[in-house]
Amino acid sequence: MPTPPAGLHHVTAIATDPQRNVDFYRMLGLRLVKVTVNFDAPDTYHLYFGGESGRPGTLITFFPWPGAPRGRRGAGQATTVSLSVPQGSLGWWRDHLQAQAVELGAVASRAEEEAFSVRDPDGLALELVAHTQAGLAPAWEDGPIPPEHAIRGLHSVTLTEAGYERTAELLTGTLGFRLAAEHGDRFRFATGEGRAGSLVDVLCRPEAPQGLVAAGTVHHIAWRTPGEAEQVEWRNVLLGQGLNVTPIIDRQYFHSIYFREPGGVLLEIATDPPGFTIDEPLMQLGRALKLPPWLEPSRADIEHALPTLKVPGPDEELVVGGTGGT
Ligand code: ZN
Repeated sequence: MPTPPAGLHHVTAIATDPQRNVDFYRMLGLRLVKVTVNFDAPDTYHLYFGGESGRPGTLITFFPWPGAPRGRRGAGQATTVSLSVPQGSLGWWRDHLQAQAVELGAVASRAEEEAFSVRDPDGLALELVAHTQAGLAPAWEDGPIPPEHAIRGLHSVTLTEAGYERTAELLTGTLGFRLAAEHGDRFRFATGEGRAGSLVDVLCRPEAPQGLVAAGTVHHIAWRTPGEAEQVEWRNVLLGQGLNVTPIIDRQYFHSIYFREPGGVLLEIATDPPGFTIDEPLMQLGRALKLPPWLEPSRADIEHALPTLKVPGPDEELVVGGTGGT
């Protein structure tokens, strides 16, 4: 068996307006680490946000589809994306978000964590989770949020499932996760070191309507694997379980396989290498539209189709991406 995933690699969700998406996640203090296109629909963006270097486990990425209808949260879906912040930071975050007129949920305590919910402009359900171990992960020192409060990466993802047993069986029996906690209808599974970034909560909600993946919902979640040899092993293991797994796909910054877990959530296993510095230096991440080699010949057409994006630069606001206006 290949080694169980070290943790979450990234979460990908659907947005509508790309500029509004960039502005909101910048306000959360995440770095725009890559501006590229959806390789399967290159007339639309794929925007990557994360920690300073965009290391796996810090990444939340978006397909902004202007005019896309709003999705519906429900069963067979990743329904909440939880982000990790240091203990004692929630008060600072509430002040910061309220000053931006962002609507907040109440603070809830769960075991050794405190959390509150917040929606992004497209309605994506996020959660800030404060816990003692968050400070172990590095902050973006030069980012827009004071480093002592800054988001340290993904904490966990919540899957809502009509019946949780087959999902649990895939997680523990095939992917190597272990049941770490159980509170009512919430089952927490852990992989790797079992810390923030390596957790998935499964909510058992038989009465929930089926989720509809569209704007404001999660498209898929990706788990880490160290390299291609292990990814090939994973693919064979999953095929052996009768799952419908894609071939290995080159995503330029990592290589990916995709499959649906029994409850319907689209999962990915993505390699840690090569990472975001494969086509631009660390200091320059996210300041220009990057295309994979196979789309470079179509650059003029692609830029023409994409709206411009304004992103904060080192000295002044930069205009990146397309030439299609705002
Ligand atoms: Zn992905």
